[in-house]
Amino acid sequence: MKSVTLDHKWRIDTWSNLDQNWDVIVIGGGITGAGVLNMAAQKGLKVVLLEANDFAFGTSSRSSKLVHGGIRYLKNHQFDVVRESVKERERLLKESNGLVDPLRFIFPSFEEYQNESKMMRLGIILYDLLAPKWQHRSLNKTNVIKALPPLTQAHLLGGEEYCDARVDDSRLVLRIIKDGLRFGGYALNYAKVIGLCKSRIGQVEGVIVQDQSGKLDPKVKELKGKVIINATGPWSDQVRQGVNGGPKLRPLRGSHLLFLHEKLPIRAAVTMLHPRDGRALFAIPWENQTLIGTTDLDHEMKEDETRITQFEVDYLLEAAQHSFNTNPVTQEDIISTFSGLRPVINTNATTPSKESRAHQIWEENGLISVAGGKLTIFRVMAADTLNFCQALLPGNPKFDHRSPCFISPQTEKREALLDPQWIMMAGKLGKDVNEFFNESDADQLSSIESIPSLWAELNWAAKHEAVLHLDDLLLRRVRLGILLKNGGIAHLEKVKHLTSNALKWSNDQWKAEISRYKSIWQENYAIPK
Ligand code: FAD
Repeated sequence: MKSVTLDHKWRIDTWSNLDQNWDVIVIGGGITGAGVLNMAAQKGLKVVLLEANDFAFGTSSRSSKLVHGGIRYLKNHQFDVVRESVKERERLLKESNGLVDPLRFIFPSFEEYQNESKMMRLGIILYDLLAPKWQHRSLNKTNVIKALPPLTQAHLLGGEEYCDARVDDSRLVLRIIKDGLRFGGYALNYAKVIGLCKSRIGQVEGVIVQDQSGKLDPKVKELKGKVIINATGPWSDQVRQGVNGGPKLRPLRGSHLLFLHEKLPIRAAVTMLHPRDGRALFAIPWENQTLIGTTDLDHEMKEDETRITQFEVDYLLEAAQHSFNTNPVTQEDIISTFSGLRPVINTNATTPSKESRAHQIWEENGLISVAGGKLTIFRVMAADTLNFCQALLPGNPKFDHRSPCFISPQTEKREALLDPQWIMMAGKLGKDVNEFFNESDADQLSSIESIPSLWAELNWAAKHEAVLHLDDLLLRRVRLGILLKNGGIAHLEKVKHLTSNALKWSNDQWKAEISRYKSIWQENYAIPK
């Protein structure tokens, strides 16, 4: 099995290896593309994934961090999506301990919302029947308050408890990509597909890729492939312009607010109804902080970045203040925000929330596109996409979404299996976990402020994980940028000290990277000015 260190040498080697005939070329390095790469590589296919920005730059680092059935989709009768999702949740919980972990949810019931509570109770029963796993129960008022101390208590009757799971979305993408590389695949970030190569009769038979790192030569290459898969999520329609495909997507923006845990100290996730329109929102304990989301709004794509609007800040804050009124949070308590785009297929539903979350796969002049779906069902999406192209692939392989895609970490030290730090790092790094602990200085194996991430993760990521910019490191590898106040800038000197050997940036480069990071953070992860 190939060992994978994604450093500068890897970037140069991968670029020089691109000139060959591929079985599968995947455009897009979010969770959908990552899943396709991983499954194709497992079957011994020659597969390469090309990502225009950083791995997981798009929606796959900006989700609500849930591996879930999507209980709110039951309201719109999306039973197939929910059934598929809860089954995948169960499988991911079994296979990726430390990365996908169980999360207790509570739906509090209030006197004035008794009908909603009844509906929710039915939904929760159906949820468990679809899994199938009986894991819900009713809680009395005391137990609800114990789990959710800041909850509004007037007219509170009790609550329903059910189970889902949480994940670090960008770490999931990286783990699936790295295991895909170990299975023999290739992938490169900062490699943008700028055009499609076509045969004389107009069939897509390759892509034109341009280096965005500024470090590779030649800057542009043409690659040929038997199958070209467009897995660019919200950008799918842009890539489809190359085959004159008309618009098919309805990009829907969803935004989140992050608070310090001590400001919203919840021990379980909460499903809450917005006082204005009754939409279901979540408050989620994530990485020792509290996440509130999400909105669901039509979005016009003008640029790659997405950011929250003041309207959304007010909307989410109103829900938080309504649901947690014992010591209400204010705008000043928000430590960061982030926004992503759901790559939903447009069916012209009356409201964004009524659009189906199901995925679709289709072909246009040889270009295969896959869009819609969810992070939770990435393996179903990947297997469906590859089965769609089966006839074009050598040996006509059949793909099963139930086959494992994680390479399990091994340890000879049995005590490690009980050590929470080892379990967390094994979830993030998989097979690399033992090397991580061997390489890391003992004094760097401590938590960064109050979040679970370790200082040593910074050096590891800088050295092994395809980091090109400071924002790759702080927003997607070790997530200081969204989990700490002011994007963690108070720690930049220490970050520099820990990573400068691996990154080999000059002082001028550090200055440029810090200034780039601060401006990306201010524009896209702070409260709008
Ligand atoms: P993306 O992650 O957007 O990846 C597409 C990639 O393609 C991008 O990285 C982009 O840079 C790249 N790209 C674009 N153009 C090119 C090009 N020309 N060349 C090369 N690369 C290119 N799902 C869940 O299961 N659980 C949740 O809790 C959840 N919460 C969500 C919350 C929000 C607010 C949103 C918006 C979605 C949520 N989802 C959730 C859905 C889930 O996040 C998405 O379905 C999933 O991340 C989409 O992944 P993707 O790979 O298709 O797209």
